Amino acid sequence: MINFVNVFETKLKILNTGKLLINKKSKLEEKMADTSFNPFKMAQQQFDAVAEKLNLDQATKDLLRTPDREYSFNIPIRMDDGSYKVFHGFRVQHNDARGPAKGGIRFHPQETIDTVRALSMWMTWKTAVVDIPLGGGKGGIICDPHNLSMREQEALARGWIRQIARNIGPLQDVPAPDVMTSGQHMIWMLDEYEKIMGVKAPGFITGKPLGVGGSLGRTEATGYGVMYTVREACKNLGIDISKTTASFQGFGNVSQFAVDQYTKLGGKAIAVSCWSHEDKKSYTYRKLSGVTYQELIKITNKFGEIDKAKAQEMGFEILDGNAWIEQEVDILVPAAIENQVTKDTVNFIKPSVKIIVEGANGPTTPEADEVIKARGILVIPDFLANSGGVTCSYFEQVQCNMNYFWTKEEVLEKLDQKMTSAFHAVYDLAVSRNIYMRDAAYMIAISRVADAVKLRGWV
Ligand code: NAD
Repeated sequence: MINFVNVFETKLKILNTGKLLINKKSKLEEKMADTSFNPFKMAQQQFDAVAEKLNLDQATKDLLRTPDREYSFNIPIRMDDGSYKVFHGFRVQHNDARGPAKGGIRFHPQETIDTVRALSMWMTWKTAVVDIPLGGGKGGIICDPHNLSMREQEALARGWIRQIARNIGPLQDVPAPDVMTSGQHMIWMLDEYEKIMGVKAPGFITGKPLGVGGSLGRTEATGYGVMYTVREACKNLGIDISKTTASFQGFGNVSQFAVDQYTKLGGKAIAVSCWSHEDKKSYTYRKLSGVTYQELIKITNKFGEIDKAKAQEMGFEILDGNAWIEQEVDILVPAAIENQVTKDTVNFIKPSVKIIVEGANGPTTPEADEVIKARGILVIPDFLANSGGVTCSYFEQVQCNMNYFWTKEEVLEKLDQKMTSAFHAVYDLAVSRNIYMRDAAYMIAISRVADAVKLRGWV
């Protein structure tokens, strides 16, 4: 099964200063910009394969393979030079049988309705696999924020809300930041929504900065969540996590907190790779005695790039960028970008590896999946492993709706419970049916949504 799921999960970079942070363009994003590649067709193919295995009836298949509702609209705004320009916006609600739709808003020059459709469908499966009472949605505006002033971006954010305010909301559809949007855009959107509705509704949108409705624990959520699933996998496999070693690809938001949680659980992280902007290549930083988040973060910039010279001074071996996958460890954590465990790299994986946990979206290709399957390595698939982010966004919404905020410890404890039970549901199905973890995760997600539409009497 093709496994590029939820490729544009919210890259939540909330800056306390409220400054805009432009997210980098990923390879898959470039692929999506290629007009010959249709992500919606791919999402439908993935769905069709699982629907077949689940024996879904025709009406359920017809309902779930296309979005429930799609909105497409003009957004006219006044530019800084006094002229007027008309932009185009979308919101797609793929399915809301399990609860309000949930998903980000992208500002992207190559945005298409099919990209938004695919991403909204992937959100439906992601919220379902982690069993939070939400559906899937996605939205966007065709624009390039690099060429827009902050005032023009504010006008666009508010204009998007004016066109869609009546069709979204805390009980209908809850947006969030995504590619090239940030906490600042979310606050503008919230403000416009509240003005139109004449109410305070902080649960209308997530990804807000702390102090204006954001949740504690969101920064850590995805990386910690990744390791909560690893902890459970170790228990099931009879492995003592405190005797394990791991190698990580990436040292950005996800990987930093995955390393942190892993060492808190007693594991030894021996290698971390990341990109070097200066050298235009990646390196692996290895210390066989073990590395900690606290040690590495001191020499890492805000883009998750480790300072090579300082790392050398601190006693790290500097290896080739691909060396992270060749380490003699128990656990591999691809947590950088998509398309990394491929037919060309999969055979470098050492026989010592027992678990691969996908912190990134879509790091493993279908060909590599076949090799991993044959070797009996346990894979914790991306849309389960990295669902801590959307789960914490759900917690943000819950806290906002009741206007009462939890401590960080409370947020993380609730996150742990959700991730743990989601992992066990997928693992138990995979074992009982002797199927691959990725297939089991898809089957659980899709059957939960199929059950919800049946119970509601929609089909
Ligand atoms: P980030 O931008 O904060 O960090 C990315 C890291 O990957 C950086 O350390 C960078 O140097 C490294 N990197 C980039 N290219 C590399 C290469 N070729 N080789 C080695 N390292 C490389 O991103 P992030 O927020 O940590 O997200 C990482 C992945 O996780 C992405 O696939 C993202 O879609 C996914 N994800 C993130 C979240 C979240 O909450 N942040 C949630 C779900 C999924």
